[in-house]
Amino acid sequence: MIKEMICISCPMGCHLSCDITDMNDIKVTGNTCPRGVLYAKDELTQPKRIVTGSMRVVGGNKAMLSVKTSNAIDKHLIFDSLRLLNEIKVNAPIHIGDVMIENVLGTGVNFVATKEIL
Ligand code: SF4
Repeated sequence: MIKEMICISCPMGCHLSCDITDMNDIKVTGNTCPRGVLYAKDELTQPKRIVTGSMRVVGGNKAMLSVKTSNAIDKHLIFDSLRLLNEIKVNAPIHIGDVMIENVLGTGVNFVATKEIL
């Protein structure tokens, strides 16, 4: 069985063709570089995404803080991670790169600030 996908690892957006006849030996063609093979295999076996969202701020010059995960997390954890952001308020001041939530859902990945709030 062949599955088609587009590699989103860089702006080239290569069209990948993945032979998934044997999930233990996935064959990928159409990639311009080795990252395409890694992307396709991850996407087919354990898809991951960087998650972006926002958190409420207490005592700052802005009410909301934009955050993102420091690395990609399993796709099936996206909604639970966003729910976590809704439940927690953070105190100003906040600097870009500050860790706002450590070890999101046990992934070892942190939510970090992408905005400065004084
Ligand atoms: S296969 Fe390589 S060149 Fe093509 S989109 Fe993926 S990362 Fe970019």
